[in-house]
Amino acid sequence: MFTLEKTIDYITIPAILLNKEKEIIESNSHFKHLFSIKDDFSINGLHINSDIFKENTKNPFILDFINDNIDNIHEKYLTFHDENKKYIRINSLVFKNGTTNYMLVFENISKTFNLSYLYQEILNNTNMGVVICNNINGDFIIKDVNHSYCKLFNITKDDVLNTNIKNFICNNNKLFDTLRHVLDTGKKKMLKKINCANKWLNVVIIKTETDDIIVMVEDVTLETSALEKLEKSDKYKTEFLSNMSHEIRSPLNSIIGFSELLKEVNDDKEKIEQYINIIQKSSESLTKIINDILDISKIEEGKLEINKTNFNLNSFLEELYMVNKTKMKNEKVNFILNIPKNDTTILCDSFRLRQVINNLINNANKFTDSGFIELGYTKKSNFIEFYVKDSGIGIKIDEQNKIFERYSQSAYNNKKTLGHGLGLSISKELISLMGGTIRLESEYGKGSTFIFNIPNNKSIKRFKNLNNNQEIIDVDFSGKKIMIVEDIDFNIKLLESYLENTNAELIVATDGNDAILKYNKHKNNLDIILMDIQLPEINGTDVTRMIRNIDKDTPIIAQTAYAMRDDIDNIMEFGFNDLIHKPIKKEELLKIIYKYIN
Ligand code: ADP
Repeated sequence: MFTLEKTIDYITIPAILLNKEKEIIESNSHFKHLFSIKDDFSINGLHINSDIFKENTKNPFILDFINDNIDNIHEKYLTFHDENKKYIRINSLVFKNGTTNYMLVFENISKTFNLSYLYQEILNNTNMGVVICNNINGDFIIKDVNHSYCKLFNITKDDVLNTNIKNFICNNNKLFDTLRHVLDTGKKKMLKKINCANKWLNVVIIKTETDDIIVMVEDVTLETSALEKLEKSDKYKTEFLSNMSHEIRSPLNSIIGFSELLKEVNDDKEKIEQYINIIQKSSESLTKIINDILDISKIEEGKLEINKTNFNLNSFLEELYMVNKTKMKNEKVNFILNIPKNDTTILCDSFRLRQVINNLINNANKFTDSGFIELGYTKKSNFIEFYVKDSGIGIKIDEQNKIFERYSQSAYNNKKTLGHGLGLSISKELISLMGGTIRLESEYGKGSTFIFNIPNNKSIKRFKNLNNNQEIIDVDFSGKKIMIVEDIDFNIKLLESYLENTNAELIVATDGNDAILKYNKHKNNLDIILMDIQLPEINGTDVTRMIRNIDKDTPIIAQTAYAMRDDIDNIMEFGFNDLIHKPIKKEELLKIIYKYIN
Protein backbone atom coordinates (compact mmCIF):
# COMPACT_ATOMS: atom_id res chain seq x y z
CA MET A 1 0.00 0.00 0.00
CA PHE A 2 1.14 3.51 -0.76
CA THR A 3 1.77 4.95 2.70
CA LEU A 4 2.36 8.54 3.78
CA GLU A 5 5.89 7.51 4.79
CA LYS A 6 6.60 6.43 1.22
CA THR A 7 5.18 9.70 -0.14
CA ILE A 8 7.85 11.65 1.78
CA ASP A 9 10.57 9.87 -0.14
CA TYR A 10 9.00 10.80 -3.46
CA ILE A 11 8.72 14.47 -2.71
CA THR A 12 11.54 16.37 -4.42
CA ILE A 13 11.89 19.13 -1.84
CA PRO A 14 12.60 18.84 1.93
CA ALA A 15 9.71 17.11 3.72
CA ILE A 16 8.98 15.32 6.98
CA LEU A 17 6.11 13.43 8.47
CA LEU A 18 5.12 13.99 12.11
CA ASN A 19 2.83 12.07 14.37
CA LYS A 20 0.20 13.64 16.59
CA GLU A 21 2.84 14.44 19.22
CA LYS A 22 4.83 16.21 16.53
CA GLU A 23 7.60 13.66 16.56
CA ILE A 24 9.31 12.80 13.30
CA ILE A 25 8.14 9.55 11.74
CA GLU A 26 9.83 9.98 8.39
CA SER A 27 12.08 12.50 6.63
CA ASN A 28 13.55 12.65 3.16
CA SER A 29 17.17 13.27 2.18
CA HIS A 30 16.39 16.83 0.98
CA PHE A 31 15.25 17.68 4.47
CA LYS A 32 18.43 16.32 6.03
CA HIS A 33 20.45 18.19 3.48
CA LEU A 34 18.71 21.46 4.25
CA PHE A 35 19.54 21.11 7.93
CA SER A 36 23.02 19.65 7.32
CA ILE A 37 22.13 16.36 8.94
CA LYS A 38 24.16 13.37 7.81
CA ASP A 39 22.20 10.93 5.64
CA ASP A 40 22.89 7.97 7.94
CA PHE A 41 21.88 9.87 11.08
CA SER A 42 18.39 8.85 12.09
CA ILE A 43 16.11 11.60 13.28
CA ASN A 44 13.03 9.44 13.56
CA GLY A 45 11.37 9.79 16.94
CA LEU A 46 12.83 13.29 17.55
CA HIS A 47 10.42 16.07 18.44
CA ILE A 48 10.19 18.77 15.76
CA ASN A 49 11.35 21.42 18.24
CA SER A 50 14.28 19.31 19.33
CA ASP A 51 17.84 20.52 19.67
CA ILE A 52 18.99 19.00 16.44
CA PHE A 53 17.44 21.89 14.51
CA LYS A 54 18.56 24.48 16.99
CA GLU A 55 22.13 23.38 16.42
CA ASN A 56 21.81 23.93 12.74
CA THR A 57 20.04 27.23 12.72
CA LYS A 58 20.81 30.38 14.66
CA ASN A 59 17.15 31.25 14.99
CA PRO A 60 15.48 27.86 15.37
CA PHE A 61 11.96 27.54 14.18
CA ILE A 62 9.36 26.70 16.70
CA LEU A 63 6.64 24.99 14.86
CA ASP A 64 3.87 26.16 17.12
CA PHE A 65 1.95 27.22 14.09
CA ILE A 66 1.18 23.62 13.24
CA ASN A 67 -2.45 23.03 13.89
CA ASP A 68 -5.26 21.16 12.39
CA ASN A 69 -5.98 23.65 9.68
CA ILE A 70 -5.41 22.30 6.30
CA ASP A 71 -2.82 24.13 4.23
CA ASN A 72 -1.08 25.93 6.99
CA ILE A 73 1.66 28.07 5.51
CA HIS A 74 4.38 29.63 7.51
CA GLU A 75 7.28 31.69 6.16
CA LYS A 76 10.44 32.31 8.11
CA TYR A 77 13.92 33.69 7.66
CA LEU A 78 16.41 31.19 9.05
CA THR A 79 20.06 31.98 9.54
CA PHE A 80 22.02 28.75 9.41
CA HIS A 81 25.22 28.22 11.32
CA ASP A 82 27.24 28.35 8.13
CA GLU A 83 26.06 32.02 7.96
CA ASN A 84 23.75 31.26 5.05
CA LYS A 85 20.46 32.98 5.31
CA LYS A 86 17.56 31.13 3.80
CA TYR A 87 13.99 32.15 3.52
CA ILE A 88 11.94 29.04 4.05
CA ARG A 89 8.29 28.55 3.37
CA ILE A 90 6.93 25.71 5.49
CA ASN A 91 3.68 24.21 4.38
CA SER A 92 1.98 21.93 6.90
CA LEU A 93 -0.73 19.52 5.87
CA VAL A 94 -2.85 17.66 8.31
CA PHE A 95 -4.01 14.09 7.64
CA LYS A 96 -6.68 12.51 9.75
CA ASN A 97 -7.20 8.89 9.15
CA GLY A 98 -7.90 7.24 12.50
CA THR A 99 -4.81 8.99 13.75
CA THR A 100 -3.48 12.48 13.09
CA ASN A 101 -0.38 13.04 11.00
CA TYR A 102 1.26 16.21 9.86
CA MET A 103 3.28 16.51 6.73
CA LEU A 104 5.68 19.44 6.55
CA VAL A 105 7.11 20.53 3.24
CA PHE A 106 10.01 23.01 3.29
CA GLU A 107 10.43 25.27 0.32
CA ASN A 108 13.57 27.32 0.03
CA ILE A 109 12.21 30.54 -1.45
CA SER A 110 15.30 32.63 -0.69
CA LYS A 111 15.98 33.45 -4.29
CA THR A 112 12.60 34.89 -5.14
CA PHE A 113 12.25 36.35 -1.70
CA ASN A 114 15.63 38.07 -1.98
CA LEU A 115 14.78 39.49 -5.34
CA SER A 116 11.42 40.83 -4.27
CA TYR A 117 13.05 42.18 -1.14
CA LEU A 118 15.68 43.96 -3.26
CA TYR A 119 13.05 45.35 -5.60
CA GLN A 120 11.13 46.59 -2.61
CA GLU A 121 14.30 48.28 -1.32
CA ILE A 122 14.85 49.95 -4.68
CA LEU A 123 11.25 51.07 -4.76
CA ASN A 124 11.48 52.49 -1.26
CA ASN A 125 14.72 54.32 -1.84
CA THR A 126 14.58 55.61 -5.37
CA ASN A 127 14.00 59.32 -5.83
CA MET A 128 11.51 58.51 -8.50
CA GLY A 129 7.89 58.49 -7.43
CA VAL A 130 6.24 55.20 -8.40
CA VAL A 131 2.52 54.44 -8.50
CA ILE A 132 0.99 51.12 -9.44
CA CYS A 133 -2.63 51.16 -10.49
CA ASN A 134 -5.36 48.86 -11.64
CA ASN A 135 -7.62 49.73 -14.45
CA ILE A 136 -11.13 49.44 -13.12
CA ASN A 137 -13.84 50.40 -15.60
CA GLY A 138 -11.63 52.95 -17.25
CA ASP A 139 -10.50 54.53 -13.99
CA PHE A 140 -7.01 54.11 -12.70
CA ILE A 141 -7.21 53.02 -9.07
CA ILE A 142 -4.00 53.22 -7.05
CA LYS A 143 -2.95 49.93 -5.47
CA ASP A 144 0.54 50.90 -4.31
CA VAL A 145 2.77 53.96 -4.10
CA ASN A 146 6.31 54.39 -2.90
CA HIS A 147 7.74 56.84 -0.40
CA SER A 148 9.10 59.29 -3.01
CA TYR A 149 5.72 59.62 -4.63
CA CYS A 150 4.10 60.47 -1.30
CA LYS A 151 6.86 62.96 -0.56
CA LEU A 152 6.54 64.55 -3.97
CA PHE A 153 2.86 65.33 -3.50
CA ASN A 154 3.01 65.71 0.26
CA ILE A 155 0.54 62.91 0.95
CA THR A 156 0.51 59.66 2.91
CA LYS A 157 0.09 56.20 1.47
CA ASP A 158 -3.26 55.87 3.22
CA ASP A 159 -4.47 59.03 1.50
CA VAL A 160 -4.07 57.52 -1.93
CA LEU A 161 -4.54 53.76 -1.74
CA ASN A 162 -7.69 52.68 -3.58
CA THR A 163 -8.32 56.16 -4.92
CA ASN A 164 -8.33 57.40 -8.48
CA ILE A 165 -4.89 58.47 -9.71
CA LYS A 166 -6.57 61.51 -11.21
CA ASN A 167 -6.88 63.00 -7.72
CA PHE A 168 -3.31 62.53 -6.79
CA ILE A 169 -1.07 62.88 -9.75
CA CYS A 170 -3.11 65.86 -10.84
CA ASN A 171 -5.83 66.47 -13.30
CA ASN A 172 -3.48 67.04 -16.16
CA ASN A 173 -5.43 65.99 -19.25
CA LYS A 174 -2.38 65.14 -21.28
CA LEU A 175 -1.26 62.73 -18.61
CA PHE A 176 -4.63 61.11 -18.34
CA ASP A 177 -4.93 60.67 -22.08
CA THR A 178 -1.49 59.09 -22.12
CA LEU A 179 -2.53 56.65 -19.37
CA ARG A 180 -5.46 55.54 -21.50
CA HIS A 181 -3.25 55.30 -24.55
CA VAL A 182 -0.80 53.03 -22.72
CA LEU A 183 -3.67 50.94 -21.42
CA ASP A 184 -5.10 50.52 -24.93
CA THR A 185 -1.88 49.94 -26.84
CA GLY A 186 0.35 48.40 -24.17
CA LYS A 187 3.12 50.67 -25.42
CA LYS A 188 5.42 52.44 -22.98
CA LYS A 189 5.12 56.24 -23.06
CA MET A 190 7.31 59.00 -21.74
CA LEU A 191 6.20 62.57 -21.07
CA LYS A 192 8.83 65.22 -20.58
CA LYS A 193 8.45 68.35 -18.45
CA ILE A 194 4.74 68.32 -17.84
CA ASN A 195 3.41 70.78 -15.33
CA CYS A 196 1.53 69.22 -12.40
CA ALA A 197 0.65 70.66 -9.03
CA ASN A 198 3.17 73.50 -9.48
CA LYS A 199 5.92 71.05 -10.33
CA TRP A 200 7.71 70.06 -13.47
CA LEU A 201 7.64 66.31 -13.97
CA ASN A 202 9.10 63.73 -16.30
CA VAL A 203 6.70 60.79 -16.39
CA VAL A 204 7.11 57.24 -17.71
CA ILE A 205 4.03 55.03 -18.03
CA ILE A 206 4.10 51.28 -18.70
CA LYS A 207 1.58 48.48 -18.81
CA THR A 208 2.56 45.15 -17.28
CA GLU A 209 1.70 41.60 -18.36
CA THR A 210 -0.74 41.56 -15.47
CA ASP A 211 -2.53 44.59 -16.94
CA ASP A 212 -1.33 46.85 -14.15
CA ILE A 213 -0.26 50.35 -15.04
CA ILE A 214 2.97 51.65 -13.50
CA VAL A 215 3.54 55.38 -13.47
CA MET A 216 7.06 56.61 -12.66
CA VAL A 217 7.42 60.28 -11.85
CA GLU A 218 10.62 62.30 -11.68
CA ASP A 219 10.56 65.80 -10.22
CA VAL A 220 12.61 68.05 -12.49
CA THR A 221 11.37 71.35 -11.10
CA LEU A 222 14.80 72.41 -9.84
CA GLU A 223 16.62 71.52 -13.02
CA THR A 224 13.93 73.19 -15.07
CA SER A 225 14.04 76.42 -13.14
CA ALA A 226 17.87 76.33 -13.10
CA LEU A 227 17.80 75.86 -16.83
CA GLU A 228 15.30 78.66 -17.21
CA LYS A 229 17.57 80.89 -15.14
CA LEU A 230 20.54 79.92 -17.26
CA GLU A 231 18.63 80.60 -20.44
CA LYS A 232 17.51 83.91 -19.02
CA SER A 233 21.03 84.82 -18.00
CA ASP A 234 22.30 83.73 -21.40
CA LYS A 235 19.70 85.94 -22.99
CA TYR A 236 20.77 88.78 -20.70
CA LYS A 237 24.39 88.20 -21.59
CA THR A 238 23.73 88.28 -25.31
CA GLU A 239 21.72 91.46 -24.88
CA PHE A 240 24.43 92.80 -22.65
CA LEU A 241 27.16 92.12 -25.17
CA SER A 242 25.26 93.80 -27.96
CA ASN A 243 24.53 96.75 -25.65
CA MET A 244 28.12 96.85 -24.52
CA SER A 245 29.54 96.88 -27.98
CA HIS A 246 27.34 99.89 -28.65
CA GLU A 247 28.30 101.44 -25.29
CA ILE A 248 31.98 100.90 -25.92
CA ARG A 249 31.92 101.90 -29.54
CA SER A 250 30.23 105.29 -29.09
CA PRO A 251 32.80 106.82 -26.69
CA LEU A 252 35.58 105.12 -28.60
CA ASN A 253 34.33 106.63 -31.86
CA SER A 254 34.21 110.06 -30.23
CA ILE A 255 37.76 109.70 -28.95
CA ILE A 256 39.09 108.60 -32.33
CA GLY A 257 37.01 111.09 -34.30
CA PHE A 258 37.74 114.14 -32.21
CA SER A 259 41.44 113.28 -31.88
CA GLU A 260 41.57 113.30 -35.69
CA LEU A 261 39.71 116.61 -35.79
CA LEU A 262 42.12 118.10 -33.26
CA LYS A 263 44.89 117.80 -35.80
CA GLU A 264 43.01 120.09 -38.15
CA VAL A 265 41.82 122.93 -35.89
CA ASN A 266 45.09 124.87 -35.94
CA ASP A 267 44.90 127.74 -33.45
CA ASP A 268 41.15 127.79 -32.80
CA LYS A 269 41.36 127.67 -29.01
CA GLU A 270 37.64 127.42 -28.49
CA LYS A 271 37.41 124.37 -30.72
CA ILE A 272 40.47 122.78 -29.16
CA GLU A 273 38.91 123.14 -25.72
CA GLN A 274 35.57 121.80 -26.93
CA TYR A 275 37.13 118.74 -28.57
CA ILE A 276 39.37 117.97 -25.60
CA ASN A 277 36.31 118.16 -23.37
CA ILE A 278 34.49 115.65 -25.53
CA ILE A 279 37.51 113.34 -25.60
CA GLN A 280 37.83 113.56 -21.82
CA LYS A 281 34.14 112.79 -21.24
CA SER A 282 34.23 109.88 -23.65
CA SER A 283 37.37 108.49 -22.00
CA GLU A 284 35.68 108.69 -18.62
CA SER A 285 32.63 106.85 -19.79
CA LEU A 286 34.77 104.25 -21.52
CA THR A 287 36.77 103.72 -18.33
CA LYS A 288 33.54 103.31 -16.38
CA ILE A 289 32.20 100.66 -18.74
CA ILE A 290 35.47 98.75 -18.76
CA ASN A 291 35.75 98.94 -14.98
CA ASP A 292 32.21 97.66 -14.58
CA ILE A 293 32.86 94.75 -16.91
CA LEU A 294 36.06 93.91 -15.04
CA ASP A 295 34.25 94.12 -11.70
CA ILE A 296 31.49 91.85 -12.91
CA SER A 297 33.93 89.22 -14.10
CA LYS A 298 35.93 89.47 -10.86
CA ILE A 299 32.73 89.08 -8.84
CA GLU A 300 31.67 86.10 -10.95
CA GLU A 301 34.99 84.40 -10.37
CA GLY A 302 34.89 85.26 -6.67
CA LYS A 303 38.13 87.17 -7.03
CA LEU A 304 37.02 90.61 -5.95
CA GLU A 305 38.85 91.40 -2.74
CA ILE A 306 37.87 93.85 -0.06
CA ASN A 307 40.82 95.77 1.40
CA LYS A 308 39.85 97.32 4.69
CA THR A 309 41.60 100.33 6.20
CA ASN A 310 40.68 102.76 8.93
CA PHE A 311 39.59 106.15 7.76
CA ASN A 312 37.69 109.14 8.92
CA LEU A 313 34.17 108.88 7.53
CA ASN A 314 33.22 112.57 7.61
CA SER A 315 36.33 113.73 5.74
CA PHE A 316 35.85 110.92 3.25
CA LEU A 317 32.23 111.92 2.56
CA GLU A 318 33.00 115.64 2.46
CA GLU A 319 35.59 115.08 -0.23
CA LEU A 320 33.30 112.75 -2.17
CA TYR A 321 30.51 115.33 -1.92
CA MET A 322 32.73 118.13 -3.24
CA VAL A 323 33.90 116.07 -6.21
CA ASN A 324 30.32 115.18 -7.16
CA LYS A 325 29.02 118.69 -6.56
CA THR A 326 31.47 120.16 -9.04
CA LYS A 327 30.28 117.62 -11.58
CA MET A 328 26.58 118.44 -11.15
CA LYS A 329 25.58 121.02 -13.66
CA ASN A 330 21.83 121.12 -13.10
CA GLU A 331 21.06 124.22 -11.05
CA LYS A 332 17.52 123.05 -10.36
CA VAL A 333 18.89 120.21 -8.20
CA ASN A 334 20.16 120.97 -4.72
CA PHE A 335 22.88 118.55 -3.62
CA ILE A 336 22.94 118.13 0.17
CA LEU A 337 25.40 116.40 2.50
CA ASN A 338 23.85 115.39 5.81
CA ILE A 339 26.37 113.88 8.23
CA PRO A 340 26.49 113.72 12.05
CA LYS A 341 28.74 116.23 13.79
CA ASN A 342 30.52 113.56 15.83
CA ASP A 343 33.20 112.08 13.73
CA THR A 344 33.43 108.36 13.04
CA THR A 345 36.36 106.17 12.18
CA ILE A 346 35.34 103.28 10.02
CA LEU A 347 37.18 100.12 9.01
CA CYS A 348 36.10 99.56 5.45
CA ASP A 349 37.30 99.39 1.85
CA SER A 350 37.27 103.11 0.98
CA PHE A 351 37.75 102.49 -2.75
CA ARG A 352 34.70 100.22 -2.96
CA LEU A 353 32.62 102.39 -0.62
CA ARG A 354 33.37 105.38 -2.87
CA GLN A 355 32.40 103.34 -5.93
CA VAL A 356 29.02 102.43 -4.40
CA ILE A 357 28.17 105.96 -3.25
CA ASN A 358 29.35 107.52 -6.53
CA ASN A 359 27.20 105.10 -8.39
CA LEU A 360 24.11 105.96 -6.34
CA ILE A 361 24.76 109.68 -6.71
CA ASN A 362 25.25 109.32 -10.47
CA ASN A 363 21.97 107.47 -10.76
CA ALA A 364 20.18 110.04 -8.61
CA ASN A 365 21.62 112.74 -10.82
CA LYS A 366 20.56 110.95 -13.99
CA PHE A 367 16.99 110.49 -12.85
CA THR A 368 16.37 113.79 -11.04
CA ASP A 369 15.52 116.86 -13.08
CA SER A 370 14.68 119.14 -10.19
CA GLY A 371 14.49 119.18 -6.42
CA PHE A 372 17.26 117.65 -4.38
CA ILE A 373 19.75 114.82 -3.94
CA GLU A 374 20.84 114.07 -0.39
CA LEU A 375 23.78 112.00 0.80
CA GLY A 376 24.07 111.09 4.47
CA TYR A 377 24.59 108.46 7.11
CA THR A 378 23.51 107.55 10.63
CA LYS A 379 25.43 105.58 13.20
CA LYS A 380 23.68 102.46 14.55
CA SER A 381 25.03 100.21 17.28
CA ASN A 382 26.93 97.76 15.11
CA PHE A 383 26.75 99.32 11.69
CA ILE A 384 26.59 102.53 9.74
CA GLU A 385 23.58 103.23 7.58
CA PHE A 386 24.22 105.29 4.45
CA TYR A 387 21.58 106.74 2.19
CA VAL A 388 21.28 108.56 -1.11
CA LYS A 389 17.89 110.17 -1.52
CA ASP A 390 16.49 112.01 -4.50
CA SER A 391 13.32 113.73 -5.62
CA GLY A 392 13.56 112.24 -9.10
CA ILE A 393 11.33 110.07 -11.24
CA GLY A 394 11.15 107.17 -8.76
CA ILE A 395 10.81 103.48 -9.51
CA LYS A 396 7.59 101.51 -9.83
CA ILE A 397 6.94 98.90 -7.13
CA ASP A 398 7.07 95.98 -9.56
CA GLU A 399 10.52 97.03 -10.72
CA GLN A 400 12.04 97.75 -7.33
CA ASN A 401 13.60 94.32 -6.79
CA LYS A 402 14.47 93.80 -10.41
CA ILE A 403 16.72 96.82 -10.74
CA PHE A 404 19.32 95.16 -8.50
CA GLU A 405 19.61 92.36 -11.02
CA ARG A 406 22.33 92.49 -13.62
CA TYR A 407 21.68 94.26 -16.92
CA SER A 408 18.27 95.41 -15.83
CA GLN A 409 16.90 98.86 -16.40
CA SER A 410 13.52 100.30 -15.71
CA ALA A 411 11.12 99.98 -18.59
CA TYR A 412 9.60 103.32 -17.65
CA ASN A 413 12.55 105.66 -17.75
CA ASN A 414 13.48 107.30 -20.99
CA LYS A 415 17.16 107.61 -20.14
CA LYS A 416 18.12 104.07 -20.99
CA THR A 417 20.95 105.08 -23.22
CA LEU A 418 22.69 106.74 -20.29
CA GLY A 419 23.57 103.52 -18.53
CA HIS A 420 24.13 99.85 -19.02
CA GLY A 421 22.21 98.33 -16.12
CA LEU A 422 25.23 97.09 -14.18
CA GLY A 423 25.81 99.78 -11.55
CA LEU A 424 23.24 98.66 -8.98
CA SER A 425 24.00 94.98 -9.26
CA ILE A 426 27.72 95.70 -8.77
CA SER A 427 26.90 97.99 -5.84
CA LYS A 428 24.76 95.30 -4.24
CA GLU A 429 27.51 92.70 -4.58
CA LEU A 430 30.16 95.10 -3.24
CA ILE A 431 28.02 95.96 -0.23
CA SER A 432 27.45 92.30 0.43
CA LEU A 433 31.19 91.61 0.18
CA MET A 434 31.69 94.39 2.74
CA GLY A 435 29.24 92.58 5.03
CA GLY A 436 26.19 94.80 4.47
CA THR A 437 22.88 94.97 2.62
CA ILE A 438 21.12 97.49 0.36
CA ARG A 439 17.46 98.30 -0.02
CA LEU A 440 15.30 100.76 -1.88
CA GLU A 441 12.38 102.91 -0.85
CA SER A 442 10.76 104.63 -3.76
CA GLU A 443 7.53 106.10 -5.01
CA TYR A 444 7.05 106.42 -8.72
CA GLY A 445 7.00 110.09 -9.69
CA LYS A 446 8.19 111.26 -6.27
CA GLY A 447 11.73 110.01 -5.82
CA SER A 448 13.93 107.22 -4.53
CA THR A 449 16.06 106.50 -1.47
CA PHE A 450 18.78 103.87 -1.64
CA ILE A 451 19.76 102.79 1.87
CA PHE A 452 22.67 100.50 2.64
CA ASN A 453 24.53 99.49 5.75
CA ILE A 454 28.12 98.52 6.45
CA PRO A 455 29.29 96.84 9.69
CA ASN A 456 30.98 99.34 11.96
CA ASN A 457 34.30 97.63 12.66
CA LYS A 458 36.24 100.45 14.11
CA SER A 459 39.86 99.53 14.17
CA ILE A 460 42.35 96.96 13.06
CA LYS A 461 42.08 94.34 15.65
CA ARG A 462 42.97 91.12 17.09
CA PHE A 463 45.75 88.69 16.82
CA LYS A 464 48.29 88.15 14.11
CA ASN A 465 47.78 84.46 14.39
CA LEU A 466 44.97 83.07 16.40
CA ASN A 467 46.24 79.54 16.66
CA ASN A 468 49.92 79.42 17.41
CA ASN A 469 52.02 82.12 18.91
CA GLN A 470 49.25 84.55 19.34
CA GLU A 471 50.34 88.12 19.28
CA ILE A 472 48.12 91.05 19.97
CA ILE A 473 48.30 94.13 17.85
CA ASP A 474 45.22 95.95 18.97
CA VAL A 475 41.85 94.66 20.09
CA ASP A 476 38.53 96.28 19.59
CA PHE A 477 35.76 95.42 22.02
CA SER A 478 33.52 98.34 21.17
CA GLY A 479 29.90 97.70 21.97
CA LYS A 480 30.93 95.06 24.54
CA LYS A 481 30.23 95.23 28.27
CA ILE A 482 32.76 93.67 30.65
CA MET A 483 32.14 93.33 34.39
CA ILE A 484 35.20 93.29 36.66
CA VAL A 485 34.62 91.86 40.12
CA GLU A 486 37.68 92.76 42.21
CA ASP A 487 38.15 94.22 45.67
CA ILE A 488 41.73 95.47 45.54
CA ASP A 489 42.03 98.95 44.17
CA PHE A 490 45.38 98.39 42.54
CA ASN A 491 44.13 95.33 40.65
CA ILE A 492 41.07 97.25 39.42
CA LYS A 493 43.29 100.04 38.09
CA LEU A 494 45.52 97.50 36.39
CA LEU A 495 42.62 95.76 34.61
CA GLU A 496 41.11 99.12 33.66
CA SER A 497 44.39 100.26 32.14
CA TYR A 498 44.73 96.99 30.20
CA LEU A 499 41.27 97.42 28.75
CA GLU A 500 41.43 101.16 28.28
CA ASN A 501 42.03 101.20 24.52
CA THR A 502 39.68 98.40 23.64
CA ASN A 503 36.56 100.63 23.68
CA ALA A 504 34.80 98.13 25.96
CA GLU A 505 32.35 99.43 28.56
CA LEU A 506 33.58 98.40 32.04
CA ILE A 507 31.40 97.76 35.08
CA VAL A 508 33.34 97.42 38.33
CA ALA A 509 32.01 95.59 41.41
CA THR A 510 34.13 95.63 44.54
CA ASP A 511 32.65 92.83 46.64
CA GLY A 512 30.29 89.85 46.34
CA ASN A 513 27.12 91.77 47.18
CA ASP A 514 28.03 94.56 44.81
CA ALA A 515 28.73 91.94 42.11
CA ILE A 516 25.21 90.47 42.45
CA LEU A 517 23.59 93.92 42.44
CA LYS A 518 25.51 95.03 39.36
CA TYR A 519 25.00 91.69 37.61
CA ASN A 520 21.22 92.06 38.05
CA LYS A 521 21.32 95.58 36.70
CA HIS A 522 23.37 94.76 33.58
CA LYS A 523 22.59 91.08 33.02
CA ASN A 524 20.72 91.61 29.76
CA ASN A 525 23.71 92.93 27.91
CA LEU A 526 26.80 91.74 29.78
CA ASP A 527 29.32 90.08 27.50
CA ILE A 528 31.76 88.65 30.06
CA ILE A 529 32.55 88.70 33.80
CA LEU A 530 36.06 88.65 35.28
CA MET A 531 35.52 87.25 38.77
CA ASP A 532 38.02 87.46 41.59
CA ILE A 533 37.72 84.48 43.96
CA GLN A 534 38.62 85.94 47.33
CA LEU A 535 36.10 88.66 47.92
CA PRO A 536 34.68 90.28 51.03
CA GLU A 537 31.03 89.47 51.87
CA ILE A 538 30.26 86.64 49.46
CA ASN A 539 33.22 85.01 47.74
CA GLY A 540 33.61 84.71 43.96
CA THR A 541 32.72 81.04 43.71
CA ASP A 542 29.42 81.59 45.54
CA VAL A 543 28.60 84.63 43.42
CA THR A 544 29.27 82.55 40.31
CA ARG A 545 27.09 79.72 41.56
CA MET A 546 24.24 82.16 42.14
CA ILE A 547 24.61 83.66 38.67
CA ARG A 548 24.74 80.20 37.10
CA ASN A 549 21.39 79.36 38.70
CA ILE A 550 19.73 81.83 36.38
CA ASP A 551 22.26 82.35 33.60
CA LYS A 552 24.13 79.54 31.90
CA ASP A 553 25.48 81.63 29.04
CA THR A 554 27.45 84.70 30.11
CA PRO A 555 31.12 83.69 30.19
CA ILE A 556 32.63 83.99 33.67
CA ILE A 557 36.41 83.94 34.01
CA ALA A 558 37.93 83.25 37.42
CA GLN A 559 40.91 85.34 38.42
CA THR A 560 42.97 83.14 40.70
CA ALA A 561 46.21 83.63 42.56
CA TYR A 562 49.04 81.20 41.88
CA ALA A 563 48.85 80.06 45.46
CA MET A 564 45.47 78.56 44.74
CA ARG A 565 46.63 76.33 41.90
CA ASP A 566 45.66 73.15 43.65
CA ASP A 567 42.08 74.30 43.75
CA ILE A 568 41.78 74.83 40.01
CA ASP A 569 39.67 71.76 39.41
CA ASN A 570 37.36 72.67 42.25
CA ILE A 571 36.99 76.18 40.95
CA MET A 572 35.80 75.07 37.50
CA GLU A 573 33.01 73.08 39.12
CA PHE A 574 31.35 76.27 40.29
CA GLY A 575 30.44 77.18 36.71
CA PHE A 576 33.40 79.24 35.51
CA ASN A 577 34.22 78.97 31.83
CA ASP A 578 37.94 79.53 32.26
CA LEU A 579 40.47 81.03 34.60
CA ILE A 580 43.30 83.48 34.43
CA HIS A 581 46.21 83.56 36.89
CA LYS A 582 47.28 86.54 38.90
CA PRO A 583 49.42 88.54 38.37
CA ILE A 584 47.46 89.04 35.19
CA LYS A 585 49.37 89.93 32.01
CA LYS A 586 47.74 92.23 29.49
CA GLU A 587 48.14 89.90 26.55
CA GLU A 588 46.64 86.95 28.41
CA LEU A 589 43.71 89.02 29.57
CA LEU A 590 42.92 90.31 26.08
CA LYS A 591 43.26 86.86 24.58
CA ILE A 592 40.92 85.21 27.05
CA ILE A 593 38.29 87.95 26.67
CA TYR A 594 38.64 87.81 22.90
CA LYS A 595 38.19 84.06 22.99
CA TYR A 596 34.87 84.27 24.81
CA ILE A 597 33.25 87.34 23.35
CA ASN A 598 34.06 86.96 19.66
P1 ADP B 1 22.29 102.07 -15.13
O1 ADP B 1 23.69 102.10 -15.60
O2 ADP B 1 21.30 101.70 -16.16
O3 ADP B 1 21.91 103.27 -14.34
P2 ADP B 1 21.98 100.74 -12.63
O4 ADP B 1 22.13 99.32 -12.28
O5 ADP B 1 22.78 101.71 -11.88
O6 ADP B 1 22.27 100.84 -14.16
O7 ADP B 1 20.45 101.11 -12.53
C1 ADP B 1 19.48 100.25 -13.06
C2 ADP B 1 18.19 100.96 -13.32
O8 ADP B 1 17.58 101.31 -12.09
C3 ADP B 1 18.34 102.27 -14.05
O9 ADP B 1 18.43 102.07 -15.44
C4 ADP B 1 17.05 102.95 -13.66
O10 ADP B 1 15.98 102.45 -14.43
C5 ADP B 1 16.84 102.51 -12.24
N1 ADP B 1 17.35 103.51 -11.26
C6 ADP B 1 18.52 103.44 -10.59
N2 ADP B 1 18.65 104.49 -9.75
C7 ADP B 1 17.54 105.23 -9.90
C8 ADP B 1 17.08 106.46 -9.30
N3 ADP B 1 17.77 107.11 -8.37
N4 ADP B 1 15.87 106.93 -9.71
C9 ADP B 1 15.14 106.27 -10.63
N5 ADP B 1 15.53 105.11 -11.22
C10 ADP B 1 16.71 104.60 -10.87
